[in-house]
Amino acid sequence: MKIEKNTGDFDALGEDHIGTSSNTPLREDAFKLSTEEKIEIIKDDVRHIMETLGLDLTDDSLKGTPNRVAKMFVKELFGGLDPAKKPNASTFENKYKYGEMLVEKNITLYSTCEHHLLPIVGKAHIAYISSGRVVGLSKMNRIVDYYAKRPQVQERLTIQIVQELQKVLNTKDVACVIDAKHLCVNSRGIRDVESSTITSEFGGKFKEETTRREFLDYIKFDTKF
Ligand SMILES: [Zn+2]
Repeated sequence: MKIEKNTGDFDALGEDHIGTSSNTPLREDAFKLSTEEKIEIIKDDVRHIMETLGLDLTDDSLKGTPNRVAKMFVKELFGGLDPAKKPNASTFENKYKYGEMLVEKNITLYSTCEHHLLPIVGKAHIAYISSGRVVGLSKMNRIVDYYAKRPQVQERLTIQIVQELQKVLNTKDVACVIDAKHLCVNSRGIRDVESSTITSEFGGKFKEETTRREFLDYIKFDTKF
């Protein structure tokens, strides 16, 4: 498959981008348009939606909305579709020979449900056991954010985070749990304000009961500072 403007190993375009794959389903021509060209097109589309709803776009409060929404979609909410924004995955030697699991919990997560284009808001918890390399803590936040900034389903997001960290850290021993509220469930439809959704992906040693239990016990810590 030939993709313009992409020379890296872009995960989102696998051999077969079928719905059951962990890859985000993207069209082959996903990167033919520039960021600015996409914003211009989406601006017109948002204006069309608003006008169809009967809104008066000459009103001072509304006239900037199409451009604002278009920029927000392309650069922010769905910026993680752009492989150029993938965090640089530099790792370091595990100098301390720390051999236990490292857990980063309560990583703030903002994503967008791809079925309704409404927010998913939650926390991600990540753990890994070093195979000789370690990664900066904030890099884990950045990887979560990169994959969250796409139209998503929570299951796929969880798997994408684990697969990326497995690649970066060169180990299967990576786990991720996400606990998130979906505004498409909380604010409309069934309107269940209280419900949240938990997904998990356990790789390598985290498939073993004791390792998995240790991780899950750590993320229950109610850390307060
Ligand atoms: Zn939804």
